Parts: sequence; C-alpha cells; structure tokens
Amino acid sequence: MIFKSLMGKVTMSASPHNSDPVEIAKFNGIAQSWWDPHGPSKPLHDLNPLRLAYIERITAEAGKPLSASRVLDVGCGGGILAESMARVGASVLGIDLAPAVLEVAELHALGAKLAVSYRAIGAEELAREQPGAFDIVTCMEMLEHVPDPAASLAALAALAAPRGHVIVSTLNRTARAFLVAIVGAEYLARVLPRGTHEYLKFIRPSELAKWGRTAGVELKDLTGITYNPLTRSFACSSDPSVNYLAHFRRSEP
Ligand code: SAH
Repeated sequence: MIFKSLMGKVTMSASPHNSDPVEIAKFNGIAQSWWDPHGPSKPLHDLNPLRLAYIERITAEAGKPLSASRVLDVGCGGGILAESMARVGASVLGIDLAPAVLEVAELHALGAKLAVSYRAIGAEELAREQPGAFDIVTCMEMLEHVPDPAASLAALAALAAPRGHVIVSTLNRTARAFLVAIVGAEYLARVLPRGTHEYLKFIRPSELAKWGRTAGVELKDLTGITYNPLTRSFACSSDPSVNYLAHFRRSEP
C-alpha cells in the first residue's frame, strides 16, 4: 500500500481535457492556503524568485524583455508566478482547470492593478482558439500532473509565437528525485502533503526534449534546481537530477 502510494500509478483521464480529475481535486483542496508562504504551496513561493529571474534572463538575452511580453502561464495555480510576471510589466493570462484555485488567483489579483487575467480553459483548447498568440508560454510544476504530458507540450508549443519561448519546470524521474521530492518532502520534512507527486509521472529531460522536437520547439537550455536544506533555499545548478527548468524556442514561422 505504502509502496503504491510512494510510486504512484499512472491514472487515465476521464476528462475531455488532458487533465486528471483526481489531480485537479487535489489542487482544489489546497486552494484556500495557496498564498500562505508556510502552507502546502511553500515550495512554489520559495521557488518563485528563482524561476522569475530565469525567465527574465532568458527572454532579455533573446532580445524582448519579459516586461514587454505577452505571456501565458499554463497551470497557473493561485497565480504566484503569473502575478510576479505581471508585476515586472508583462501582460499575463493564467489558465488552470481547478476552479477553486483560479478563484483564489482572481481574488488575490483583485485591486492590485496588474495586467493579469485568468481563465478556466485547457492548453489544448486555447491553442485551437489562439494559436501562436504568446511571446512566452510558461508551465511550471504541471506536466508531472497530467495524463499526456507530450500532448501538453505540443499545446504549449502551438500557443507560442514564431521565435517565442516555452519555459517549463518539472521533476526528473531519477532515484534521487524519488528520495528528495517524495520520501524527503512528503514523508520526512512534510513540506508537501502526501500524495502530491507520483514518481511514475516524473519526466526525464530526454523525454521532454523529444516531445519538444515533435512539437516544433527546440530545447535551448536545461537548468537544474537544487534545494539546500541548511539554508532552506533553492538555487539554479547544473544538476537536473531532481527539479529542473527547461527553455524551448519555436523556430519556424
Ligand atoms: N504553475 C503554478 C502551480 C503549480 S501546481 C506554480 O508553479 O506556481 C499545478 C497546477 O496545475 C495546479 O493549479 C493544477 O490545478 C494545474 N493543473 C493540473 N492539470 C492541469 C491541466 N491539465 N491543465 C491546466 N492546469 C492543470
């Protein structure tokens, strides 16, 4: 039993979207505490400055700063990243399929006078509606929760403008990630609720790169994120064995 809950099982989606109703229910369940920096979303709060800096650096190097970009944040949750990108001047649309979570995102942004809006729509559906509409498409900590991550990446690629960026983060399927992200974070340190992650849904960078090639985006950068338990902080590193950021770019018009 415990082995099964540690390893997870690949569930099939009964939803018309490429989404898993069990996963969506899990996120709806923690919606109210999303913005509590010490609650179950603590790792997302702690990670945010780092991934925001990564997005700013990558896009600035490519010539169009985040502050001048139209951004789509897929699986935006309560809006931690979406809001922070809007705060530096980007025009941001956040999408998610967990209604309670989106409601929290909307409420939190209320009155902040930020260029951020939210919609309950799947990436695949939005890609049919607005193909190529975004300079930057971000998707953080979501791909390891969907039934068909290759299809999600294809939708992210379709949503990016020609020469646009797709920036994702996820967990690697390694023994180290199993020990750190599941045994460590869920069972020992208990910074994440048990059952947050399923090992079998973790994604190897090589798989992600292959799905990207099929979808017409090229992997330009892979950066590891490591956690220092002494300082309790995350840092970018060359070690992608647990958590990592991946930058893809669309080439063709
Ligand atoms: N990207 C945010 C939240 C990560 S938690 C951040 O890093 O701060 C994962 C989020 O993905 C949850 O809000 C969940 O509701 C959402 N999600 C899961 N499956 C999804 C799907 N198929 N489409 C859109 N959102 C999804």
